[in-house]
Amino acid sequence: MMKFDVAAIREQFPILKREVDGNPLVYLDNAASTQKPQCVIDALVGYYTQCNSNVHRGAHRLADEATKEFESARDIIKQFINAPHREEVIWTSGTTESLNIIAHGMREKLQHGDEVIVTEMEHHANIVTWQQACRYAGASLKVVPVSEQGELDLNVFEALLSVKTKLVAFPHVSNALGTVNPVHWLTKKAKEVGALVSIDGAQGIAHGGVDVQDIGCDFYSFSGHKIYAPMGVGVMWGKKDVLETWPVWQTGGEMISTVTLEKATWNTLPYRFEAGTPNVGDAIAFGAAIKWFCEFDLQEVQAHEQQLMARATELASAFDGLTIVGNAKEKIGALSFVLDCGHPADVGFLLDRQGFAIRTGDHCAQPLMSRFNVPGTARVSFAIYNTLEEVDAFFDALKKVRMMLA
Ligand code: PMP
Repeated sequence: MMKFDVAAIREQFPILKREVDGNPLVYLDNAASTQKPQCVIDALVGYYTQCNSNVHRGAHRLADEATKEFESARDIIKQFINAPHREEVIWTSGTTESLNIIAHGMREKLQHGDEVIVTEMEHHANIVTWQQACRYAGASLKVVPVSEQGELDLNVFEALLSVKTKLVAFPHVSNALGTVNPVHWLTKKAKEVGALVSIDGAQGIAHGGVDVQDIGCDFYSFSGHKIYAPMGVGVMWGKKDVLETWPVWQTGGEMISTVTLEKATWNTLPYRFEAGTPNVGDAIAFGAAIKWFCEFDLQEVQAHEQQLMARATELASAFDGLTIVGNAKEKIGALSFVLDCGHPADVGFLLDRQGFAIRTGDHCAQPLMSRFNVPGTARVSFAIYNTLEEVDAFFDALKKVRMMLA
């Protein structure tokens, strides 16, 4: 186990040494994408310099090595989320594709009058997908509202559940507000009416400790780039017995078993959902990122991130003219706010001039922004390498922004 030492961790991230307009970079946009440690960059370069090759079908050394590394990355992910079977880990291009595979399959199973439940705090990737699936099947989409605190209204959720509910979809953690949803409870309730459960884990995965068996869900989707791995690779985890009945997604090479001119039969899991040449290098680097992350004591990582959140919340609460959007009891990773003196886009622009990278806008969650009656928010989001000094410096910089805008 690696000692939790933020300074030493920062040393492993080359990008954190760069400057922006002569200011040290303070990267607080981790919910959008995290930075990559050197070992992940090395894994990617290592693949392209040592064993770049197509997987599974080559009769040569490079193909064998690439296949071995690619499949062992799958094993690393399996272990990380405590999946019971390795073939349940499906490589995708990211959470968006994973959610599309689920919704695309589900639309074949939904019937007129069936219901799908989502929440008001969805990322667009987990609402537009279900709008389309319901439209296709003639099913209805029901929405769990979000309270002023930024929490799901669990009474409404319970009231919406019925025998008509065929699937319930919700985020583990809200990317816009940082709210941590009670995923175990939500899953248990959905299961009581026999519904399938699909969790958008894009933000949940980033903080570790996801155990899909313990949660009891049917699907858990996430992206590599939110947890120190490259962009362009993600995972759809699904329960084997569910995936075996799931309609295929893309068709082509690898996902078939036999093909005649008239018809085709499908490959076994996981390949059934992995048509075409996969993103081998990024999957291998994803494995390297998880291996690296698992070298830390998870409790120490989470305690560190909670400390950053607590300090940011304390400073934000005392900040003149600042309103925190979403004050849930359980939050991790992200804090959203608006200032009374300027649009979030101007706030972001003026912070960037001082070297602070944050995200502003609707965070791909327009229904949630409407719920809070704001055009967008400014959002700071934390990762393993952020420090309390950075949080303090951020609020000092924000004071300057307020003076400029006032
Ligand atoms: N859901 C949530 C909660 C997210 O935060 C994101 C990424 N912002 C996505 C889905 C989509 O992930 P990706 O863009 O990596 O496919």
